[in-house]
Formats: sequence, structure tokens, C-alpha cells
Amino acid sequence: MANDHPIISIVVPCYNEQENVRAMIDRLRGVLEPITRDYEIIFINDGSADATSDRVSAAHGEDGRVKLIELSRNFGHQLALMAGLDVASGDAVITIDADLQHPPELIPEMLARWQDGDDVVHAVRQRSGGGGIQRLTSRMSYRLLRSLCEVDILPNAADFRLLDRRVVQVMRQLRERFRFDRGLVRWLGFRQGQVAYQEDLRLGGRPAYRWSQRVRLLGNAVFSLSSRPLSLVGVLGLFVSLGAAAYLVFVLATRLLAPDRFGVQSGWASTMAMILLFGGVQLVAIWLLGQYVGRTYEETKQRPPYVIARGLGLEGPGIPRTTRPRLEIPGNLLPPSRQV
Ligand code: UDP
Ligand code: MG
Repeated sequence: MANDHPIISIVVPCYNEQENVRAMIDRLRGVLEPITRDYEIIFINDGSADATSDRVSAAHGEDGRVKLIELSRNFGHQLALMAGLDVASGDAVITIDADLQHPPELIPEMLARWQDGDDVVHAVRQRSGGGGIQRLTSRMSYRLLRSLCEVDILPNAADFRLLDRRVVQVMRQLRERFRFDRGLVRWLGFRQGQVAYQEDLRLGGRPAYRWSQRVRLLGNAVFSLSSRPLSLVGVLGLFVSLGAAAYLVFVLATRLLAPDRFGVQSGWASTMAMILLFGGVQLVAIWLLGQYVGRTYEETKQRPPYVIARGLGLEGPGIPRTTRPRLEIPGNLLPPSRQV
């Protein structure tokens, strides 16, 4: 190889994907080999409880271009992607899901666009392969995101995209842990293009994302990309205050000027209704504030966003040594249960 780094890096985050690793490698090979042999496929094992890691290790044994980064536990898809971008050294880096919902056959077209000068190529889903409810919630989420965020998020873009090396270098500087890469990449600028694809059904295994994770991701997307919700609460507060002031003037005026005509209610029910309403509004506002404060607190701890337990085929400052020196520990120093 002429370069010390490959031309193409493929980054595949995996959480319990043992059934898909082999098929993924085969289909990636099918599209990459005719283009170049100078590529690497990096699997990021995000704390899988199954044999994902063994499958990748076996593939690495056969072909050194298949590489592995093993995180020390489950950190979530977005942080697994972050780990992948941190270690991928290709001139173009492509992130793709392990479950083959993102067809690798789209990669040649993405590469062609990159060759034409695009720095980022998004794969945009034409029709979701998920169920009706999932499709609906995903469409609603995009609506919500686009209306709340200052970033122009592409509807139906996936975490299937090509990034030029320059863009990867900038992405590496964004160390935030509450992240939504689909928005962050848009925020970066550069020349961004897109290609459409038809989403396939998941090949094997179950969707790794639980509903709670989806909700959290949506929260991260909104709160990490925008502080507009805070302004909206401000506007709400202003309207409520103005309404209350107007009502107060009305109450006082009727009391003073025409106490019998309007018969202003001063009953228990209306008072309770008001207290509960405003109590609820205030709690929501505090919750919203808490979303920002909590994230700020987490970020100020400056913990590493993810932890690498070991790497295969990759070395670097963040990737720890995994071989241990052998020690002969005399049997009589060990508890009886060990002295067979
Ligand atoms: N994933 C991950 N860590 C997680 C959850 C998911 O690395 O905690 C990976 C998963 O293995 C897959 C990708 O992220 O490659 C997308 O996950 P999934 O297919 O469950 O999401 P969906 O396609 O339903 O959006
Ligand atoms: Mg999937």
C-alpha cells in the first residue's frame, strides 16, 4: 500500500449483531473489491452480550482489513459512531448500520458523489422499513426537530453517510456526549449531497434501540442542537402573564364599578383550576430548564464519552494494550477452592 492509511473506511456500530457480521462483511466486500482493495471495515462493538466480538475477531484473522474496536460497555449508537470516527483513517469514512437495513450497494454511488466533490453524502430513506407506528413517530420526530432546531436537518436522513477526511477531522473536535450526528453534520456545513435509498428489513436479531432510547435520542437532538425551547417557554410565560394582568384589571374594574352585573366568580373550583394549571405550566418549564442544566452538568464532568476496552488491527494512543504478562502464582497462596 502506498499510503499509510486506507482510501475507504467503513464504520459499523454493533450491539448484539452476531447474526449480521458475516453477511455485512460479504456484502461490503462485494461492492468495495471492484472499486479498490485499499479499504478497512471497522466494527465498533458497543458492549454486545452475544458473540459479535468473536465473529469480528474470526474475520480479522482471515483478513486484516476487518478491524475491531471493543467498547468497555454499551455506550449507545451515537457514541459508538463517535468512537468509529475517532479511529477511522480513510480518505472517505462511511458509517452504516450493522443490520443491513442500509444497503451497502449504495456505497458506489456515494463514492461517486464524493469523487465529484461532495464532502458529505447523506443516504436519505425513501420509505421506512419499520412498522406503521414507527414510521409515523419518525415522521413526527423530524417535524418537531425541524421546527425546534436552528439546524436544517434532512428529513429521513439516516446514520448512513459518507464523510470526507476533512469533515471527519472537524467531527473529531466535537466532543459533546449528548449528540445527534444527523444534526451535527448538517451544522458543519461543507458541500453536502444526498442519495436516496430504499430501507430493507433488519437481517437478523432484534432492533437494538428500545423506545426509551429513541425518546432520549430525540431529546438529545432537540436540546443539543437548539436552545429555542427556552425562548418558547419565555414567550409562553409572557402571554400567560399578560392574560393574567388583563384578567386582574377586569376583576378589579367589575368589583369596583359594577359589583352586581358580572358577578365575578371567587369560588373554590375556579381557584383550584387556576392553581393546578399554572402549577403544571411551571413544572413543565422547570423540567425543560432541567434538561439543559442536567446536560450541562454531565458535560462539565469531562468524562471521556466512551471507553475502549481493546482494539484489533488498530493502534493509537486511546487504544489500550491487551496482552497481560504471565505470572506463576504459587498454589498455596490461593484460596482452597482454586487449589484443585
Ligand atoms: N447500536 C449500537 N448501540 C446501541 C444500539 C444500537 O451500536 O446501543 C447499533 C446497532 O447494532 C445497529 C445501529 O446501531 O447497527 C442501529 O440500531 P437499530 O437497528 O437497533 O436501530 P433502527 O434501525 O431500528 O433505527
Ligand atoms: Mg436497524
